Amino acid sequence: MFVCQNQPCGARWMPAEVVIKNEGQGPIFRCPLCGARNRLMASHRADGSIDYKQLRREASGADAAPPKARRS
Ligand SMILES: [Zn+2]
Repeated sequence: MFVCQNQPCGARWMPAEVVIKNEGQGPIFRCPLCGARNRLMASHRADGSIDYKQLRREASGADAAPPKARRS
């Protein structure tokens, strides 16, 4: 289950309902409802198929935090 990360939208999609594309910066799907781009992470299963996992904002929150000032 993917969730559109566009805050006012938040639509949920089954992987089969969206088109996954790679536009050069990793796989993404476009929300069919609002058109927002949602980043995905591809991982290879043991059987050779590709499993897409969603990069959620909550999970990458650390990246959004401002860098700590370094003491010199
Ligand atoms: Zn959406």
